[in-house]
Amino acid sequence: MAMPFVAGNWKMNTSISEAIKLAKMLRSALSGIDRVTRVVCPPFISLAGVAAEFAGSAVKIGAQNMHTEPRGAFTGEISGAMLQDVCEYVILGHSERRQLLGETDSFINAKIRAAMELRLIPILCVGETLEEREMGNANAVVAMQIQKGLRELTAVEIGRSVLAYEPVWAIGTGRAATPEMAQEIMGSMRDELGRLARTEIAARVPLLYGGSVNAENALELAAQQDVDGALVGGASLNASDFAAIAKAFATRA
Ligand code: PEP
Repeated sequence: MAMPFVAGNWKMNTSISEAIKLAKMLRSALSGIDRVTRVVCPPFISLAGVAAEFAGSAVKIGAQNMHTEPRGAFTGEISGAMLQDVCEYVILGHSERRQLLGETDSFINAKIRAAMELRLIPILCVGETLEEREMGNANAVVAMQIQKGLRELTAVEIGRSVLAYEPVWAIGTGRAATPEMAQEIMGSMRDELGRLARTEIAARVPLLYGGSVNAENALELAAQQDVDGALVGGASLNASDFAAIAKAFATRA
């Protein structure tokens, strides 16, 4: 079974000083919650400061994006090579980037492969829109995003990945998927990973649910067989809420 796992996506929130303040509060709120991998993903500008706040703790640092290339004429971009010193994880393919910034599956795949080469652990986000769900295509859309996102990865590399099921209609809307909806898709995601790698490898890949996770709904999501953890947006900006979510998923261990 995969290790329980919670990641906080701070998105484009917090100034540098606010990020440091939140990190200090999180360090104390998360201490003593073991048996769950805890990752925080602040904005690029605060990565180094937040990493320093968590130095010597078990909390890991993630970035919210990276470019495919290690360096060069890509004004405004940040490469995986730059992130290596400060992060272990990187969120890739978030629906806000797919939808608002036009990121394609093949661009996301190039980023995933670049992250793998640098030994950064990608958190690949997949998920259907409301329209796709209402047309009965949720499973097919998610399976295709996984196939394209993980194209050309070896089974071992797939085993080093984290996947997040984030239905677009549930992100930042306060309307989370029901635990049963999450389980249905995430069970199929595990099967898809089993086909791409091997069943034993797929069983150990942390599958996160994301979309309006909060301190109230975390426990019932954590009770689902294939919901190993959560990718948390809004609620990760509140230290006690994020700690409550981490505690809920620690019950799986
Ligand atoms: C996210 O940004 O990945 C997310 C799931 O956001 P929220 O928890 O706010 O819905």
